[in-house]
Formats: sequence, C-alpha cells, structure tokens
Amino acid sequence: MYRIGFHVSIAQGFLNVFESAKLLGANCCQIFTHSPRSWKFKLVSEDIAKTFKNMYRQKDIKPIVVHDSYLPNLASNDLEMREKSIDSIKKEFICCNRMGLEFLNIHPGAHKGQSKEKGLLQICESLNSIKEHAENVTLLFENTSGGGSVLGSTFEELKFLIDGIDFNCGVTLDTCHLFASGYDISNRETLENTLSHFDKKVGLENLKLLHLNDTKGELSSKKDRHEHIGLGMIGVEGFNAIVNHEYLKNIPMILETPVNEKRGDIENIIFLKKMIET
Ligand code: ZN
Ligand code: MN
Ligand code: MN
Repeated sequence: MYRIGFHVSIAQGFLNVFESAKLLGANCCQIFTHSPRSWKFKLVSEDIAKTFKNMYRQKDIKPIVVHDSYLPNLASNDLEMREKSIDSIKKEFICCNRMGLEFLNIHPGAHKGQSKEKGLLQICESLNSIKEHAENVTLLFENTSGGGSVLGSTFEELKFLIDGIDFNCGVTLDTCHLFASGYDISNRETLENTLSHFDKKVGLENLKLLHLNDTKGELSSKKDRHEHIGLGMIGVEGFNAIVNHEYLKNIPMILETPVNEKRGDIENIIFLKKMIET
C-alpha cells in the first residue's frame, strides 16, 4: 500500500497533525518537534505525548517521521557546537519515544575543514554516546546534496555512517539531493542504475524513507533547491519511474516541495498520485 504524505506544520499543536495530514490527502507525514531554526527546545509534555501516542495508534497516518532541526552539526570540530548538537538530538529521541514515533530523520553534518573521515567518525561517536535514548527509534541518515563540507552525499559515506552506529538506523533518500549529488534518476534506466548502485554500496534493505522533491539544479550541481513534482530537472519521467518502481512503491514517500503561487502541497500530492499506474 502506498504511503504518501508531506511535511506538516505543528503550529496548531501536535494533536492537529493527524487532521491536517488527512485533509490534504496524506496517509503519512513528517513533523518538526520544535522550531527548526532555534536552539530552544521545549520537550513535548508527557500529557500531550500520551494523547498523541494513543491517536497515532488509532489513525491510519503512518509513519509520522520526525525531522531534526536545521542547526545541529555533529561533525563540527567546535566542542560547544558539538555538545549542543548532541543534546538536541538526544531531545529529539526523547520526544519520539514519548510520542510513540519510530523514525528520526537527521542531516549527518558538515566537517568544516576537518577531514571527511574525522567528521564521519565524530558523527558516529556522538550518536553512540546517546544510544540509550534511542530506545524504540530508528535513526535515519538523510542523503545530502553535497554542497560545501556537508557529509552524507555519497553512498559510501552513508554506508560508513550506518556501519558505525550501535543501534537501529537506516537511510532516507531525498530525490533532489540524489540528483544534486550526481545520482541520475530522471528516467527508468538511470533510476535503475542508481538503485542498483545503492544496493551494492549500502543495501536496499537499509532504505526506510523517501523524500520526494524535484530539483531546480542540474545533475551534480550540489544545489539543494526543491521544486514541485515534475516541474524540475528530475521531471515527470523521473517521478513516473520512481512512484511506479516495484521496490520503491513500498517505501513511505514524503514531499518537501515548495508552497507558492504555482502549487501547494495538495496539488503536488494529487499530481504525484495521478502518475501511479494501477
Ligand atoms: Zn532534511
Ligand atoms: Mn529532505
Ligand atoms: Mn533539501
């Protein structure tokens, strides 16, 4: 069964997430646990979390994935930054467990001039230091577009990360980031090549989530610029191949497409669903 949804705002509170997702035709979604551009982190209260957990059990909106905030950098060589980042991810784990959510999606981090290996090792060490907080949560490393010193844009780096983690983890593939980092998925043949490459390097069984975004940037541009489904460089042909792919159709798909005068979330979901061959 297809699981297609998008990033839902928590501005109206956690308990409104189910209704917001459903109203826009989603049967899974992604949320932040707090403002993604702030270090201020107010943990969801035990009461709200309990109600949320019960609702989550009953509603057919699954999975609800937590995306970490934009500020943490576990690969930073600045000790204060690193400690703040670890604390922030620890709190994300606590929220996930309180709310009964099974996935935490994170951006691996940027090495900022340290070597790649150092950065990658530091990410693993940092996360392993809080592994007792992961409990029932599977940590997902999102592939990145690879700009600057950002880690996690290659399958080799993703493999290094999941091998270094001592608790449950996996990978999210973001289609915009894939294309930006040089993995072509703009038609059936290139998608097949990219997936078999991923399978060899990382293992398809480690793919737990898809972020479906078209992209404004060229192949290998390293630009992280999301576009509406079918209107970017991956295009209709690419998304057609993706949503109808025998393996991928069983992986939850979350849209992080823009909301602007061209389209909003509902139009992107409708557009995507229309491509599904029945
Ligand atoms: Zn992300
Ligand atoms: Mn993404
Ligand atoms: Mn992005």
